[in-house]
Amino acid sequence: MTEHSHLSDMELRVRSLESLLTDKGLVDPAALDAIVDTYENKVGPRNGARVVARAWVDGDYKQWLLRDATAAINSLGYVSTQGADIVVLENTDAVHNLTVCTLCSCYPWAVLGLPPAWYKSFPYRARAVKDPRGVLAEFGQILDDDVEVRVWDSTAEVRYLVLPQRPAGTDGLNEDELAGLVTRNSMIGTERLAGD
Ligand code: FE
Repeated sequence: MTEHSHLSDMELRVRSLESLLTDKGLVDPAALDAIVDTYENKVGPRNGARVVARAWVDGDYKQWLLRDATAAINSLGYVSTQGADIVVLENTDAVHNLTVCTLCSCYPWAVLGLPPAWYKSFPYRARAVKDPRGVLAEFGQILDDDVEVRVWDSTAEVRYLVLPQRPAGTDGLNEDELAGLVTRNSMIGTERLAGD
């Protein structure tokens, strides 16, 4: 069974469980939303941010990450339970990488946590491939014409993590401070960091 069919089955089970527990007064939907928000925006993406910051300060680590991201990420303790390999995509002055799952919502949970609702939405999945510059513009990112946009379609077997460029003017920052600059969306590819 592929993860695609697996996921929708799982989502159905989760939704029916949630409504059952809510009906019985056992859970507060607002509290569940707060937990999901935490994993979408805070806990999960911080792992990816630490991977990015390490690559920015350690050239050997960066080369390892680009060559074998699964192993390099595992070495920091962020181990995927999804059985999928992670591939890291390096942004440069000439190339911007954007990730999507056109079929459903495949996403590198070990480094980014839960996918945001828009990542799972049909408009994003449909348009990221057909009109990536238009999608980026809606995220407030206007890329120069000479920047090539590469779109990567995630699968059950391979998940992607974007390595943004280290922002200019950050020479004096340590690894923790650098990690604080890395946003979730910059690792999905819908944002370029200042100077990226
Ligand atoms: Fe998927």
